[in-house]
Amino acid sequence: MKEFDLIRNYFTEQAVKRKDVILGIGDDCALLAPAEQQHIAVTTDTLVSGVHFPVNTDPKAIGHKAVAVNLSDLAAMGAEPTWLSLALTLPEVDQNWVSEFCAGVFELCEFYNVQLVGGDTTQGPLSITITAQGLIPIGKSINRNSAKAGDWLYVTGELGDAALALLHLQGVEKVDDVFKADVFKQLDYPKPRVLVGQALRNYATSAIDLSDGLISDLTHICEASKVGANINLESLPISSIMHETLGQEKAIKLALTGGDDYELLFSVPEDNKVGMETALSNINVPVTCIGQLNGSDKITTTLNGEPVNFEHKGFEHFSND
Ligand code: ADP
Ligand code: MG
Repeated sequence: MKEFDLIRNYFTEQAVKRKDVILGIGDDCALLAPAEQQHIAVTTDTLVSGVHFPVNTDPKAIGHKAVAVNLSDLAAMGAEPTWLSLALTLPEVDQNWVSEFCAGVFELCEFYNVQLVGGDTTQGPLSITITAQGLIPIGKSINRNSAKAGDWLYVTGELGDAALALLHLQGVEKVDDVFKADVFKQLDYPKPRVLVGQALRNYATSAIDLSDGLISDLTHICEASKVGANINLESLPISSIMHETLGQEKAIKLALTGGDDYELLFSVPEDNKVGMETALSNINVPVTCIGQLNGSDKITTTLNGEPVNFEHKGFEHFSND
């Protein structure tokens, strides 16, 4: 299949050349030389057209997102990203599409000094699988199962804009024209919080990246660490676009349940708060304390101190939507 050979050539044209890549694209396997005293973190994510991104998404955004969601997983462990492999299934050969897709992949690779070291190219319905690897000093990974009751809960960035963009596409909500570029940027070009993840190694007791929605992903930390949590809803970092488009109550619900944020959610013990804030002060990413872990086996929410019980009765406080 000559055309696919051609396409493969796109992937060899990359700027990043890492010293720890002994042999990159071109042979049966890549050969990598991990640094001493480091563990290798490995993660894989697949994006299927029409499932994980709308069918007509800009190919550059698809390339960006395929890399970003994997780097986001590495960030949530505190790993420094190093190597990628890419399994690409394409319905047809479209050079323009591939070239734009590569631009999206390589932009993030260059920013984070990550090298594409191999992959596979096949014909079929559009689907992208990336395996990303990264390095963590031994013993420094941030796992899900080490959070403790009393730890404070933080998130990076703002929540819900990507989900709002998706609701707009689905015709469920209407985003004003002046806001569209901003919310679609959150959906199509999520920013993996790579530097935050590494900066948290010495301070966070647990971390996860928000792909499925805050409540859903917090549940993973709570179950793994055998803790409960309370979220202060008035503290949730929600954009002015969300407030203006949805009003406070719907905006809060979407911030709790909407997916695709790719922000980090992490827990920090009281004694590490100042250290964490100092470590993050050199990184231009806002973090917000949204609540605290506790010894219960539930996730509860309060709004200005008043309990809002969504677990058993739905969001009954938010009765007018
Ligand atoms: P093989 O048949 O030995 O698996 P391929 O013809 O599939 O070899 O691939 C040849 C080389 O090109 C390998 O090094 C492979 O890793 C690389 N490669 C193929 N497709 C991609 C891709 N989509 N992205 C990056 N590297 C790729
Ligand atoms: Mg192959």
